[in-house]
Amino acid sequence: MRKLDKRRSPRNVSPDGQPRQSMQQAEKAFRIALRSAADAAECARSAFDALEKRKLRSVLYEEQRYLCVYCERRIAEGKQPGPRIDHWRPLSKNPNLALHWHNLYLCCATETTCDCRKGQSALRADDQAPDLPWPVALGYERCLGFSSKGEIYVRSDAPLSDAQRRALALAIGIPHNNKTRDNGILNLNHPTLIAARAAAVDSECDRLEDDYKGKTASKDDRAARAEAMLAEQTLQEFVSIRVGWLTKTLNKGR
Ligand SMILES: [Zn+2]
Repeated sequence: MRKLDKRRSPRNVSPDGQPRQSMQQAEKAFRIALRSAADAAECARSAFDALEKRKLRSVLYEEQRYLCVYCERRIAEGKQPGPRIDHWRPLSKNPNLALHWHNLYLCCATETTCDCRKGQSALRADDQAPDLPWPVALGYERCLGFSSKGEIYVRSDAPLSDAQRRALALAIGIPHNNKTRDNGILNLNHPTLIAARAAAVDSECDRLEDDYKGKTASKDDRAARAEAMLAEQTLQEFVSIRVGWLTKTLNKGR
């Protein structure tokens, strides 16, 4: 999970053959319809269902640079099952945000993690607490750390309130052991993800060794590699742990 820049919503979200309508126009029309709707959630669902999702996804891919907003697995058009459009703040609890561009993110379709597991659960510490901020508003890369084994955790030095810290810990789940194989709203410590992150670190290690052929890369060299990686238009899968390894910040703030 990393901070995202959502600069422009789609300019046309109508199905092919229908009059063009931008996301902003669609949201405006929906908000007007919502005022007189008998069932707000139903109205929100039908307004969202009417959008041409392929046109939403094409902008979301670019914004997220082809990674799931939560777990950083690769997402791509044509890959089956295809990525899902997640309402960060669930549609059933926040119908007014059903078409709000900052509330929409692309997720992998893995059954055990991310949006499939989250369903209509809110990312919050308890019912009275606020939802976790959207990734446009918070740099989650400063809040989450990784162990060298590939586990994800909330950093002790994260710039979070107590309620946000609890919400984020609840969202990601604690590292796997036999009793807690599936846990957390997003289940980001699922054993498959832990293993995939550890493999990503191994591959960075191999690439660095190949490129430096027995010499040691300096701290500046490693930082430059991390920076170049973060500038790519299509990010590497599990980019955050790769950057953590390159900048020697794994296990920090644990
Ligand atoms: Zn995911």
